[in-house]
Amino acid sequence: MSHNNSPKQSTGRIMILSTETILWPWLALLLILALVLAGLPVSATPEPSRTLAPTSTSAKYVIILHGDGMGPQHVKAGGMYVSGTPGTLPFEMFTNKTTMTHNNATGATTDSAASATAMATGVKVNNGVISVRLPGDGAELTSLLELHRDRARSTGLVTEDSMTDASPAAYGAHEPSRNNTSAIFNDFVTQSRPNVLLGGGGNGFDTTLAASQGYTVVSDRTALLLLDTEAQTRVAGGFGSGLIPPAGQVGRSATLPTLPEMADVALKILDNDPDGFFLFLEHGGIDKSSHANNGLDLMLSMAEFSAAVQKVLNWVDDPTTTADWANTIVIVLADHETGGMIVTVNNGQGQVPTMSWTSTGHTQTPVPVYAKGLGADQITGAQIDNTTIFALLQPGGPALCTAVTLTAGADTWLDAANPNATHGDDAKLVADGSPDNSILLKWDLSAIPTGSTINSATMSFHIQDPNDQSGSAFQFYALRRNWSEANATWNDSDTSAPWGTVGAQNATSDRYTTALATSPTGGAPPTWANTALNGDGIAQVQRWINGADPNYGFAIQDYADATSDGFRLNAFNSTNAPRLAVHYCLPSMA
Ligand SMILES: [Zn+2]
Repeated sequence: MSHNNSPKQSTGRIMILSTETILWPWLALLLILALVLAGLPVSATPEPSRTLAPTSTSAKYVIILHGDGMGPQHVKAGGMYVSGTPGTLPFEMFTNKTTMTHNNATGATTDSAASATAMATGVKVNNGVISVRLPGDGAELTSLLELHRDRARSTGLVTEDSMTDASPAAYGAHEPSRNNTSAIFNDFVTQSRPNVLLGGGGNGFDTTLAASQGYTVVSDRTALLLLDTEAQTRVAGGFGSGLIPPAGQVGRSATLPTLPEMADVALKILDNDPDGFFLFLEHGGIDKSSHANNGLDLMLSMAEFSAAVQKVLNWVDDPTTTADWANTIVIVLADHETGGMIVTVNNGQGQVPTMSWTSTGHTQTPVPVYAKGLGADQITGAQIDNTTIFALLQPGGPALCTAVTLTAGADTWLDAANPNATHGDDAKLVADGSPDNSILLKWDLSAIPTGSTINSATMSFHIQDPNDQSGSAFQFYALRRNWSEANATWNDSDTSAPWGTVGAQNATSDRYTTALATSPTGGAPPTWANTALNGDGIAQVQRWINGADPNYGFAIQDYADATSDGFRLNAFNSTNAPRLAVHYCLPSMA
């Protein structure tokens, strides 16, 4: 009988089969499939072909730094102005960079709404549209911000343009028109609810509404910088009215914060969340000044954007934060090029380079994309389309917290009512009754990574007999020794045998004495009935996951009596097999 106690089986996992072992790659594939399906056009209007790369990021900190209208020449001129040498802006040092196309759903030159929607949702739309399916049925398109929020992460939208500007709106609102600024702000504070909203005031920014929705509202630089960033969880800051002029502009009001100051406050609030965050930060002045063909304002804007990027890089590099380049991705990008600008003469540091402008609108010139951190290697140099940003930055890999439902397999139970039986696929499992019967049941928990935190665990049983669940309570105890259906038998007459009724009931050798759950409750049989593991039960599963206790499963019985009440389960088939639903959180990446 030594085979029953074989040390080789001591992990309790090797011999356990589960018909529904959930594998992360499959989940990722399903997610991608769902997203692809969600992107299918529902109308007859052909949607432009879009390649949704099978990529995603498992980064804990996802940061998009968006230079609105920032084409390659804008970046080149910015380096000349900031340092005297092109190619020297902080994001130009990133190893991974490429260029990106950005035409809208009709194939025409994009506006900020259509391009930001493509990046935020992976779906091409018409100009002016904020993350709803147009052309199409107008349905809301889930944004990156919402996907990360749904992974329990904090989120933030920061811009020195109007808070309701089309670019942040695409991440936090769903409106058929970018001009619906009040509705966009309403979507922010009532629907997507970013933890941080910082931007220009007016244009729909409603301080009363924000306050009523639980936001701490600030409206000038002093109040922003006085915020207790360790205590704040939802902040809405609207400063001035419309675009905040770039730092250094003559006559600029000192009551207005700069973009780097807003970035600093946002990071300090968002990084309080141990689950990580998603941050979108925009510089809209790059676009506005380019529409005006205003070289000085463009250079001030590039310098300010560059300083905001540097703030973010410093935050990642700061050893006192939990961020590092193994758990963070920073992407610097643009939605389109504005002005058809070409820089012709470098006039040195602090001097506006000589530029020529060919347009006061947007152009189709591909824009630069720079990436650093976890997943940045997906940016290989090959040109991408703006929908790829969604594919790249959607949360992927294991969820931080998730649920898995395990189904008992044919070899995972043993039934005292049928001694010497191997039950295969037609077992009816009986606990209690007269004489006493026990069920031994175990689960393959190997899908749950070691170190995960178990939040809850609920067993479900298909109760078969109308008389079941009558009489008394049934208890679940952790087992102390190993077994398999194939090599263990029930034998009342041999207490040293693999399992006797006495053995299954023996609290000193075969099972522990702490009840981990009690009777399942549900409707009238035949029906599913559920029982949640109690605190001791969750702690037991936690010990199994941690490897602190071998996972030999449960004994189920009412050990208090031997009456003819019963607990009869439909057993193994894919429909009725017992289930164990476990909700857990992965160990922190930090
Ligand atoms: Zn523009």
